[in-house]
Amino acid sequence: MSVEDGSGQGNHPKLRLSGWVNAALDWVFPPRCVGCAAVDSVWCADCQQQLEAEPIAPRTRRLPPFTALAATATHGGILQPSLHALKYADARALAVPLGDRLAATYRLLGWTLDMIIPVPLHTTRLRERGYNQSQLIGERMAQSLSLPCFPSALTRVRSTASQVGLSRSERQQNLQDAFHADPTLVSGRRILLIDDVQTTGATLQAAAHALFNVDAVAVYGLTVTAARL
Ligand SMILES: [Zn+2]
Repeated sequence: MSVEDGSGQGNHPKLRLSGWVNAALDWVFPPRCVGCAAVDSVWCADCQQQLEAEPIAPRTRRLPPFTALAATATHGGILQPSLHALKYADARALAVPLGDRLAATYRLLGWTLDMIIPVPLHTTRLRERGYNQSQLIGERMAQSLSLPCFPSALTRVRSTASQVGLSRSERQQNLQDAFHADPTLVSGRRILLIDDVQTTGATLQAAAHALFNVDAVAVYGLTVTAARL
């Protein structure tokens, strides 16, 4: 299966053009696979097979205020282009293997939590991209574990996109109060916060603080990959 099969809907700009214009565009600029550059689709069947076979190698780290924080593997290999395609090339069907990967890792770690909350995007970014990639993988994971997923439990009240060039303390200030959690959903619950990638973990930390601020009992974190620091 290539993701073109499942990602044809939505608000991809090409869909607003008529069929023969799309056909002409594909002839002049054939879609290339983000994983291997083969002329096929944005994610080819070979890369899909490789992704599904990619071993799970959980990495855990201690990062306050998380009760526990893990990733399914180190950032790299086939996982890196698959996350890129999901995030920037509208390859939304990749949320299926990536969400299943999170679910398998959750089972492997033996965690038992009440609900999944994906890290939200700021509304400006959400409008640009049209979807939140973390929500897509979170919803798939929830489906496969029969757990509830509440994307609305956490909102991003301040954009944290412009962190580049800021000092460490300025970044912390910028992240503080960047998220707001809904106490009616979160209070007294054991939460699994999920995201696509973790690097320094500063964004995840800010989101976890917002959840503890409204009396979450425990906050676990899980991402598809973790960057080597
Ligand atoms: Zn490929």
